[in-house]
Amino acid sequence: MKPAPFEMHLPTSVSEVVALLDEHGDLAKPIAGGQSLVPMMSLRLASFEHLIDLNGVSELNQVSVNGDSLRIGAMVRQSTAEHDPQIVKSAPLVAKAIPHIGHFQIRNRGTVGGSIAHADPSSELPAVALALDATIEAVGPNGSREIAAKDFFVSTWETSLIDGEILTGVRFPIWSGKCGFVVEEVARRHGDFALVGVAAAVQVDGSKVAKAAIALFGVGGTPVRASEAEQALIAGGTSADLDAVGNLAAMNLAPSDDVHASGEYRKAVAATIVARAIAKALKEAQS
Ligand SMILES: Cc1cc2nc3c(=O)[nH]c(=O)nc-3n(C[C@H](O)[C@H](O)[C@H](O)COP(=O)(O)OP(=O)(O)OC[C@H]3O[C@@H](n4cnc5c(N)ncnc54)[C@H](O)[C@@H]3O)c2cc1C
Repeated sequence: MKPAPFEMHLPTSVSEVVALLDEHGDLAKPIAGGQSLVPMMSLRLASFEHLIDLNGVSELNQVSVNGDSLRIGAMVRQSTAEHDPQIVKSAPLVAKAIPHIGHFQIRNRGTVGGSIAHADPSSELPAVALALDATIEAVGPNGSREIAAKDFFVSTWETSLIDGEILTGVRFPIWSGKCGFVVEEVARRHGDFALVGVAAAVQVDGSKVAKAAIALFGVGGTPVRASEAEQALIAGGTSADLDAVGNLAAMNLAPSDDVHASGEYRKAVAATIVARAIAKALKEAQS
C-alpha cells in the first residue's frame, strides 16, 4: 500500500523543526530514518499531512565525549553507532545492541534518536538507555530540557516528549574499570523484533560486583529495569547464584500473551537470558 498524500518539509536547523511542528500541530510528524514511520504510514496505520524531515539538520549528527558522558545526536544512524570508535569505547552496550536491530539495510537508515523516540517496547536501544541511566535531551516550544531515561518511556510507542518537542540527543554515562556489557535476546528469526531481550552491564572489582545494570525488553509496554536482581548480584559478587538473579529479574514481570508468544513463555525466557547475559558480562569484565 501507499501512504496518504503528505507535504515534506526540509528544515536545516532544530529551531526550524520546532517552528514547523508548532505551525502544523497534530497534522505534522518528524521523520528520521523512516524505518518505523514509513511502514506505519504505508499500511495506513498512521497518516500525517506534514512530515518534518530531520535528515538535513546536521547539528543532530554529532557524537561527542564530555567528561564522564558520551552524547549521541538523535540523527546518528544505527549503523554508524555500531562502529563509531567513541561509541564502541565509551558506551559498548549501545554498539553491542545494534546488530540485533533488524537487518543492516534498516540500520543504515534507522537512527539512534528515532529508535528511542519511537519507544517500541521490544526495541533494544530504549532498554540500553534505561539500563545505563541515560539522559534524553529534548527541544520544543518551551525551550530545551533533559529527561531521565527512567521517566521517558511511558507505554507502547509513548514517551514523555510533549507536542512539538523533538529528541535532540542522548547522553550515556561512561563506565570505567573492569566492565562487561552484553545484549542477549530471543527472536523467532534473525532480524525480527525480540520476543524477549536483556541489556546488561557489570563492573567488577576483584570478587566484588561494584555496579550492575539490567534492563529487559519485550516484556511489557516499556523496557523494565530489574533493580532487585541488580542488588542481588551486587550482594553476591562474582560468585552470585545467577539463576537466582535471573529469577529475581523475571519475578515481577507480567508480559501479556500475543500471536508470537505467551506471557508465561516470555517470563521463563527472561529469567534464563538474564542469567546467561550476566554470566557473559562477568566473564568479559574479568578477562
Ligand atoms: C523489518 C524491520 C525490522 C526491525 N527490527 C527492529 C528491531 O529488531 N529492533 C528495533 O529496535 N527496531 C527495529 N526496527 C525499527 C528500526 O530500528 C527503526 O529504525 C526505529 O524504530 C526508528 O528509527 P527511525 O530513525 O527509522 O525513525 P522513524 O521511523 O523516522 O520515526 C519513528 C517515530 O519516531 C519519531 N521520531 C524519530 N526521530 C525523532 C526525534 N529525533 N524526535 C522526536 N521524534 C522522533 C517519528 O516521528 C516517528 O513517530 C525494524 C524495522 C523494520 C522495518
